Amino acid sequence: MAKGRTEPELSLGPGDLVARWPGIGYTRAQELGNMGVKTFEDLLGLWPRRHQDRSVITPLRMLRDGETATVQGEIHSVRYDPAKKILRVQITEGRVTLMAIFFHATWIQRQFHEGYHAVFSGKVEKRWNQLNMVHPELQVLAPGERPFLGFIPIYPLSGSLKQNFLQRMMRDIVPRFAPQLPDPLPPDIREQQGLTNRAEAILHQHFPADLPSLEESRKRLVFDEFLRMALAVLIMHQIDPNTPGMVQNPGGPLVNKFLASLPFPLTPGQTHVWNEIQTDLKNPSPMARLLQGDVGSGKTVIAILTMLAAVDSGFQAAFMAPTELLAEQQWLVLQNFLQPLDVPVAFLTGKDRNAREYRAALKEGTIPVVVGTQALIADRVEFKRLGVVVVDEQHRFGVKQRARLSQKGEYPDMLVMTATPIPRTLALTVYGDLQVSRIVGLPPGRKPVETIHLSYRERRFAYQTVMTAVKQGDQAYVVCPLVGGDDEESQVKAAVDLAEGMKKVPGWRIGLLHGKMSSKEKTRVMDEFRRKELDVLVATTIIEVGVDVPSATVIVIEEADRFGLAQLHQLRGRVGRGNKAATCFLIADPKTDQARERLEAMVHYQDGLKLAEEDLRLRGPGEILGMRQHGITGFQLANPLKDLELLQRARRIAREILQRDPQLMAPEHRLLRHWVGGALEDGIPAQVLH
Ligand code: ADP
Ligand code: MG
Repeated sequence: MAKGRTEPELSLGPGDLVARWPGIGYTRAQELGNMGVKTFEDLLGLWPRRHQDRSVITPLRMLRDGETATVQGEIHSVRYDPAKKILRVQITEGRVTLMAIFFHATWIQRQFHEGYHAVFSGKVEKRWNQLNMVHPELQVLAPGERPFLGFIPIYPLSGSLKQNFLQRMMRDIVPRFAPQLPDPLPPDIREQQGLTNRAEAILHQHFPADLPSLEESRKRLVFDEFLRMALAVLIMHQIDPNTPGMVQNPGGPLVNKFLASLPFPLTPGQTHVWNEIQTDLKNPSPMARLLQGDVGSGKTVIAILTMLAAVDSGFQAAFMAPTELLAEQQWLVLQNFLQPLDVPVAFLTGKDRNAREYRAALKEGTIPVVVGTQALIADRVEFKRLGVVVVDEQHRFGVKQRARLSQKGEYPDMLVMTATPIPRTLALTVYGDLQVSRIVGLPPGRKPVETIHLSYRERRFAYQTVMTAVKQGDQAYVVCPLVGGDDEESQVKAAVDLAEGMKKVPGWRIGLLHGKMSSKEKTRVMDEFRRKELDVLVATTIIEVGVDVPSATVIVIEEADRFGLAQLHQLRGRVGRGNKAATCFLIADPKTDQARERLEAMVHYQDGLKLAEEDLRLRGPGEILGMRQHGITGFQLANPLKDLELLQRARRIAREILQRDPQLMAPEHRLLRHWVGGALEDGIPAQVLH
């Protein structure tokens, strides 16, 4: 702020909005609001995207072409060319001159006075012997005035907001308000961890004295982000240590009968995770295990074993799937395996007509196993003795939903299954104390799915392959493009059109499957396809997960460039589930480099873990692996993949804090409690907030 202006009494609280800052004006306040900044506290957390090192002034004679530098010199001439609207400002230092060039920027002309000094920061262009800088950052210094050097914050902008304005505003606001922010971290922990206090960290994150102080401040702020998340997740998964856990017997008659009835031996990978799960089941403290296994690695068998252990021990088991279609598919699979063992399986979705009877039976305890969607966590579903919960393809579920399901029983054992590999540390952050198991390898005889990228001109080849496959008695999927955005409506239309077109091909029995069909219709179509009464299934992405028809050997994905890598991998996983060679056609004329690289990655890699890494490389950690779906939001500075050490430290500290004070009720944790309360939108149990 300019000197001499009367400064209003302003505070950090929610009552005082940045709009009250003198000179900000309506438009700028709106624009800050668009970036989520309403209060001064919000503004303190508007972190610079980066810093520009203007700590060193480079003499003009030392400048090299192409380098970024900060220079200072006396203003020698200021010339404006009105025809071209170009402003040229020449500065001199000794006998060397540099020309700063500004386009369409008449308004800055007024700042320059001959005889004053100017400081420019920008990229140097050296043409013959002339030094130029186009649109440098600038400061004009009156005689005797010293330049502002150091690390200059570069802020994210919105609308017509100017970098200069924000920088000046921050320079006033940060030193004034940051010291008023209380530090939620108890001082003993802060000292023991060797962390800066929060106010100082905030100050230095905006205006670091040097690189080490920027690093130190970032460390503290990243630690805070992790600590907050870790506390929230741990509290959500908190288990009263006095709760008697359940001891289940993984070696009972049903488990043994099931193993004996399997037409195949477990793969070494399956055996390994089953051993890990058995140990958990025998242990009275509740299991919380994340089971990762690539598409087709045979997770369902593991889920069944786990559920049968519960039934053998006199408990019930619930299997939760992300979509109705998948729940139905899994229900069929489970019935196939469990009917011969005389284990009835209930099915519960939101709409099912038998829901009421099933509910009653579950409450009575007369049905031991239930499959369903989110409806399972609806409040009306009660269990007599819920012992095991399996959550399939969890990347579709939020933290909150999982926590609610486990509250149904007396802390049942929980197995969360996913084909989307997420790094272990991330899993720990998101799921708290989840243990991680991985099924390594696929069942024997699986051949890699040959993956071919075709342009639209070559598309016929894909359908010729479909034809050949159908002639041999195999089956195929055709997945429809996401026409015009990804709304379901248009995707359904595309599927319908495509199916209509294909029905004209003589000899093909075409089925259609999309999200707008009733669940009865969907089941009917899936059954027909499974029974080989249909040759080709034209579908939307609802077949993405779980659909398991071993005799399908070809999948054609239209406009494959519109899908993400994880989705493509899941879709490809629908074929190659038997022991015949399978093919996946990606039909696309990719328009961006990223899309092209995604398709290339699909062609080159079969392994989900490898593809996840590629995904990370292409998209960066913010977007990867549906972190939002995993419930990770709110990391501003932290990069969980890189800030590993801090993440582990924060988790350890969070656990120590909660061991002493499980509900954060101690006076010294008051701020911490308040702070954690907002960490997950509404996922924090009420007891934390009161
Ligand atoms: P996912 O891990 O993708 O859920 P599934 O559990 O659906 O995989 O298994 C994929 C297919 O592999 C199924 O048809 C299943 O019957 C079969 N399968 C599972 N385990 C084995 C095994 N040990 N040997 C051979 N086939 C198996
Ligand atoms: Mg599965």
